Amino acid sequence: MSDDCLFCKIIAGEIPSDKVYSDEDVYAFRDINPAAPCHILIIPRKHLNAVNVGNDDDEALLGKLLLKANLIAEREGLTSDGFRYVINTGKDGGQTVSHLHLHILGGRAMRWPPG
Ligand code: AMP
Ligand code: ZN
Repeated sequence: MSDDCLFCKIIAGEIPSDKVYSDEDVYAFRDINPAAPCHILIIPRKHLNAVNVGNDDDEALLGKLLLKANLIAEREGLTSDGFRYVINTGKDGGQTVSHLHLHILGGRAMRWPPG
């Protein structure tokens, strides 16, 4: 847990969230400002500032993040029509919360390239 991290506080239950999935390693909840009909954030319980600060010790955790995202996408009914994963990273990447989070976006056709 990192002090003053919004998503660590959500994991700790100090800030409410609309939980979608939880296990010993990851936690998923609905985005408070959805950019698509389905917009879920999946995060590691371990505080990592961003995806690119993980090291070899995080190999299994980062793999699990993707596999559980796949499970959530399936449960949300996104698999047949497709969906999008986004990991904004750093200032120019548009990252506003410094706790690694994978966006799961679906329920509409996505545009490309992103803004
Ligand atoms: P990013 O811009 O990639 O850092 O994404 C941060 C995301 O967190 C945004 O999509 C926000 O809408 C979302 N967000 C911020 N605060 C909350 C919250 N309390 N509960 C759920 N989602 C949040
Ligand atoms: Zn955190």
